[in-house]
Amino acid sequence: MILLFFGPPGAGKGTQAKAIIEDLQIPQLATGDMLRVAIKKQTELGLKAQKFMDAGNLVPDALMVSLIQERIQQEDCKNGFLLDGFPRTVPQAEALSSMLESFGLKIDHVVSFKVDREELIERLSGRIICGNCGASFHETNRPPKKEGICDDCGSENLKRRPDDQRDVVGTRLDTFNRETAPVEGYYLERGLLRELDAKGDFEEIQNSLKATIKA
Ligand code: AMP
Repeated sequence: MILLFFGPPGAGKGTQAKAIIEDLQIPQLATGDMLRVAIKKQTELGLKAQKFMDAGNLVPDALMVSLIQERIQQEDCKNGFLLDGFPRTVPQAEALSSMLESFGLKIDHVVSFKVDREELIERLSGRIICGNCGASFHETNRPPKKEGICDDCGSENLKRRPDDQRDVVGTRLDTFNRETAPVEGYYLERGLLRELDAKGDFEEIQNSLKATIKA
């Protein structure tokens, strides 16, 4: 199965993806996480991407397309994969379509996570992530069970993302509206778009997501 989770930063795509991939037995390809690893390792890609990410802007399409093209050819993607955070522009969506076509593959569902701007700002400004495994928490809505310790991997490396600072969050949401929102129309025209009400409780959203994917 090939799934694509679409939505603004803070919509909960990554959190919901992590909870569903085990059942589906497919890997989560989160481009933001891949870039953060590249930055940590100081690879050529990481060095190029960092300035765009810190400012809340998109990393150039050519870099992102080759990153995904390389990743989906790896062995663990042979039964499918879940794209989280890619494509973020119409040219990325077009490149993905031709890439999949050349491999004889196609997307099963594009799930569009719907959350309003006020809630996104509230979620992002309280977000805490694990620097070790990437798990995501929220200081009030979804705090780690033991303060300062990741529920998933036990690491004490819980921190804020530099791009979750209030001024950068505004830029990221504006970038989404300007450059990424048109991708929704691209998939709507192709009959692949499924809308998901992604406000509120994690469990409720997870149940609607499972129903959406089965439908
Ligand atoms: P995320 O973790 O998905 O919020 O991504 C963090 C940042 O990584 C974004 O604000 C962008 O700067 C960059 N990024 C991630 N995915 C993409 C993409 N598909 N195209 C361009 N930039 C991306």
